[in-house]
Amino acid sequence: MEERSFFYRDTWAEVDLDCIHTNVSSVKKLLPKEVEIIAVVKANAYGHGDVQVAREALDAGATQLAVAFMDEALALRKKGITAPILVLGASRAEDVQMAADKQITLTVFQKDWLLEAQRHLKTDSRVSVHIKLDTGMGRLGIRSKEEVEDFEQLVSLDQRFHLEGIFTHFATADELNQNYFNQQFELFQELVSVLKVRPKYVHCSNSAATLRFQSGIYNAVRLGIAMYGLTPSLEMEPEIPFSLNEAFSLHSKLVHVKQLSKGDKISYGATYEASGDEWIGTVPVGYADGWIRKLQGQEVLVNGIRVPIVGRICMDQFMVRLPHEVPVGTNVTLIGKDNNQFISVNEIAKKMETINYEVPCIITNRVPRLYIKGGKTAEIKNYLL
Ligand SMILES: *Cc1c(COP(=O)(O)O)cnc(C)c1O
Repeated sequence: MEERSFFYRDTWAEVDLDCIHTNVSSVKKLLPKEVEIIAVVKANAYGHGDVQVAREALDAGATQLAVAFMDEALALRKKGITAPILVLGASRAEDVQMAADKQITLTVFQKDWLLEAQRHLKTDSRVSVHIKLDTGMGRLGIRSKEEVEDFEQLVSLDQRFHLEGIFTHFATADELNQNYFNQQFELFQELVSVLKVRPKYVHCSNSAATLRFQSGIYNAVRLGIAMYGLTPSLEMEPEIPFSLNEAFSLHSKLVHVKQLSKGDKISYGATYEASGDEWIGTVPVGYADGWIRKLQGQEVLVNGIRVPIVGRICMDQFMVRLPHEVPVGTNVTLIGKDNNQFISVNEIAKKMETINYEVPCIITNRVPRLYIKGGKTAEIKNYLL
């Protein structure tokens, strides 16, 4: 494939779909046969690319998808995805007909929502819903037995609603201390037991709980971060029963190389000063790509050597200090492997003082994504053109 014809800047992210495949397969092997994997592809699949990840996850054994908002579900339908899609977040009651039309499953947890949705749903329509329980996350969901009873009755009285699932979300499944997790899990079991009819899907496990607690698996899991090859938290990393493969990497090329003399300055604020003769390279990535200013001082790889970012990161570019003269056009690896060196998403997250989840999510749509399959570029997604 002629790659360069699909984007015209020397910066791109690579998403290795084989890694996604392996990660989903590994999780599948870990689970009892009847347990379904719901691949969580919200936020453009954590920045990796919604439809590409969705297809790969489904191919590797996931049977359903989940997103945060209805627009994300509609985008997947538009791109030809026919698998079940669960919207995990709140949807507007007036949009229920759209969900029914596109066979999108909604998360429900308010009586008033249901009453309003009834007014917006045609008589011959049918929409699948999952009840959300708030067992301690404090975000969305029903919190008491009485409310669950009430809600089930109301839903079951209206044939247009198909009560297909019930679920909750853990706040601390990735922490070594399991007290709060156990508290949430017990409340979940208690609230689920109130139901007169158990829906087809009962699910509570995110990646962390899936990898750590067999007991909480029921018959479906919601797999997000681990599918992308990232650990839900550093503290639970030793508990992961197989190795995860990071799918996301970020690349660029030197577009300018020059020699500075002692005292010459670099970038806004002129905060960096050469202490002698120094080779400086310019990399066309900046904070508008999600490579935020906090990454000043972070190292990147040039010919397998770690070199530091010097001076402030600009909107579209930053500078690095090179050990010697290097030709314009030399590859720069911001995240990923180069020769024997590796800059992990976790390393970048640490520098950004955040969690690994945030790193690929904030790499903006100005950065084209290359999809790797069998070691070759299988697809290029340029969000701009
Ligand atoms: C994002 C999300 C997940 C996925 O969590 P990971 O930690 O990425 O596996 C699961 N369930 C809900 C409700 C979510 O919002």
